[in-house]
Amino acid sequence: MFALAIHGGAGTIARASLSPDAEREYRAALETALNTGYDLLRDGAAALDAVEAAVRSLEDCPLFNAGRGAVFTHEGHHEMDAALMSGHNRLAGAVTGVRQVQNPIRAARLVMEKTEHVLLGYPGADELAREYGLPLQPKEYFFTQHRYNQLQEALREGRMRLDHSQARPVPATEAPATAPLEEPEKFTEPVEPDPNWKKGTVGAVARDQHGHLAAATSTGGMTNKRYSRIGDTPIIGAGTWADERCAISCTGNGEYFIRAVAAYDVACLMEYKGLSLEEACRIVVQDKLAPVGGEGGLIAVDAAGIITLPFNSEGMYRASRVAGGEALVAIYKE
Ligand code: ASP
Repeated sequence: MFALAIHGGAGTIARASLSPDAEREYRAALETALNTGYDLLRDGAAALDAVEAAVRSLEDCPLFNAGRGAVFTHEGHHEMDAALMSGHNRLAGAVTGVRQVQNPIRAARLVMEKTEHVLLGYPGADELAREYGLPLQPKEYFFTQHRYNQLQEALREGRMRLDHSQARPVPATEAPATAPLEEPEKFTEPVEPDPNWKKGTVGAVARDQHGHLAAATSTGGMTNKRYSRIGDTPIIGAGTWADERCAISCTGNGEYFIRAVAAYDVACLMEYKGLSLEEACRIVVQDKLAPVGGEGGLIAVDAAGIITLPFNSEGMYRASRVAGGEALVAIYKE
């Protein structure tokens, strides 16, 4: 029995805001990534290889906030985060703030396999990737018009925005001291969430034919982020986790997921309380994160290959398939 699930981000994904063409594109991209990982698992590949391949496929697609489609920072750069973890041996690797690596998830794997570290960041992580010959890309590769427009909008509103529905206000006292692409106005009033806000952090979890589990997550983080902000994605236990019981990849307001140690909490509830994967995930997503404003969701698989894809937002780009079964591709609450 093998199983794979992927996500392309969660948030206020209003049916009305997604044209039929856009929806088709998202579904096709999810299907391509799912098939990439599924075919590997079917041919006997390790869960770690399958999740890396699925995430790479999503990183190469400009629709998602990871790799090529990564959102812009306040200064108009891209700072990408990624992590992956292998469950049976608890090995993990992560990068944060990489600017040039085409596939940050590959850099995360390098950290895991070629260094004694777990998390490397900023120029050092790009440097490691360069040394090992990973493809690097110039800034233009990561340019996408809609992300650029999102930054301009966020700068005008003077706020930081997750690649999710809820914008996070920047208090006036934190107003930028330097002028980036456009001088932002100081934030004064709370602003309503923008229903058209694009979503897109990506992730994958898998159980392979040998019973091993793995998880991988990759993101551009938050539009207009500053001060080298780091979300939950590259923090092992917060946005990404795998052990012998479960593999988890999260998407949502990273700060909440960090404070909740969300991914690891699922594993803890299973281990210490004996809960099923589904129950543990429900508690974390609905009972713990949702009440405090931690909008988002996660994808999870357990040692038996059972998959669950809970979220407390309006939608989550997601897809899954277990050995011999049909592929599920979904966006909204069904
Ligand atoms: N969790 C990511 C972060 O906070 C964002 C996302 O999932 O869209 O960086």
